[in-house]
Amino acid sequence: SRKHKVCVVGSGNWGTTIAKVVAENTQQHSDIFEAEVQMWVFEEEYQIPKDSKHYDASNAQPQKLTELINRLHENPKYLPDIALPKNVVANPDIVNAVKDASILVFNLPHQFIGKACEQLKGKILPYARGISCIKGLEVSEHGCELHSESIGEKLGIYCGALSGANIATEVAQEKWSETTVAYDPPGMDSKHPTPQATPGTSPHGSHVDLSKLQGEDRTLNGKKRKLQALPTEYPPLTHRNMKKLFHRPYFHVNMCSDVAGVSLGGALKNIVALAAGFVDGLGWGDNAKAAVMRVGIMESVKFGKMFFGGSVRTKTFTEESCGVADLITSCSGGRNFRCAKMAVAEGKPIGEIEKRELNGQQLQGTGTAYEVNSFLKNEGKEQEFPLFTAVYNILEGKNKPEDIPELVDPSKQEE
Ligand code: NAD
Ligand code: 13P
Repeated sequence: SRKHKVCVVGSGNWGTTIAKVVAENTQQHSDIFEAEVQMWVFEEEYQIPKDSKHYDASNAQPQKLTELINRLHENPKYLPDIALPKNVVANPDIVNAVKDASILVFNLPHQFIGKACEQLKGKILPYARGISCIKGLEVSEHGCELHSESIGEKLGIYCGALSGANIATEVAQEKWSETTVAYDPPGMDSKHPTPQATPGTSPHGSHVDLSKLQGEDRTLNGKKRKLQALPTEYPPLTHRNMKKLFHRPYFHVNMCSDVAGVSLGGALKNIVALAAGFVDGLGWGDNAKAAVMRVGIMESVKFGKMFFGGSVRTKTFTEESCGVADLITSCSGGRNFRCAKMAVAEGKPIGEIEKRELNGQQLQGTGTAYEVNSFLKNEGKEQEFPLFTAVYNILEGKNKPEDIPELVDPSKQEE
């Protein structure tokens, strides 16, 4: 029998943290997973700062980030001062990193996932399973898609989602948090495949090669795609086994099946966190921030129901970590919130603050605000999402943060 090999595609602040979580679990659950976890790194040169504990004569010059990660067992640029398990292997070659991986964990800023998928197309195991940890949406002429869906379509695989109230540094420091993992492939990932994939029903009897059997994925946009079954020599990827890949004593996983709800909560709260930063930057206090969060969660649920109707469950937003809990943590200490607050307090463009403060980390809220707005405009629904629309207009300089109360006041919209 074979064990699952895992590759984390991405190595930023959250990507590196998830690689740590996963690598601790692959060591612990050695009956299911191979210990080594490959982590694809978008290669760059990095100079260890002079005041770092790692600075010495050998690294007085800039060096390749992958070499530093593999030597120091730390990602000094994106997750400094956090020890990584030795079974995390940084790899600058994306195709080589995914070789033989039956589980692909996608974790990179959403603007880079399209290119990564292009490089991976046709280069992965055809029956691999994906989990997207990306908080963002893919908006194109085809409409608005979840990254879990678009990754699945581009690579021809099933892809679930992981999202929660998870400020990366806190998780990396092993401070308790919760997360939600949505994983709902056709029944063939369990040892008891659905009738359509049951070997016994085949004329070849029990000798049929399950890896050749096709199953149909229930895609959200109504398209159907054929998926390859997981070969039976692997441990089945049930909720129980998937949970073992991510659950830690400090990182509690709740499994569910609402991939759309889990993905949307994480993507849309980034727009709300910008709004929370805007009002906080004005010095308006906690009541204002709470008002923004209230409107934000309502618009997030409405967006889900309106555009991903059939499958989204309201309770994913209200009861799971990926919903209201992520909104609260992001509006308290997230990067979108912090940068938006500084931008307003200092009267500077948020992009300038992002460059100054984040050392190469990427805000997701600004891009998502533009993408969601272009989608809403196209659908003629801007007015029905006044907070999302206000954030876009503030970024565009067409509104000011001071306008938010009027813009989101329901009685004003009825006039
Ligand atoms: P990050 O903000 O740290 O971004 C830096 C990463 O982007 C680095 O790995 C860098 O190599 C990579 N990068 C830069 N240019 C690139 C290019 N041209 N092509 C490919 N990669 C490039 O990233 P992150 O924090 O790991 O975020 C990944 C996803 O996780 C995002 O969608 C984010 O919303 C989500 N997330 C982040 C956190 C957090 O606290 N950081 C928590 C939960 C979820
Ligand atoms: P930021 O990207 O705004 O830091 O949010 C992090 C996050 O998603 C916390 O759950």
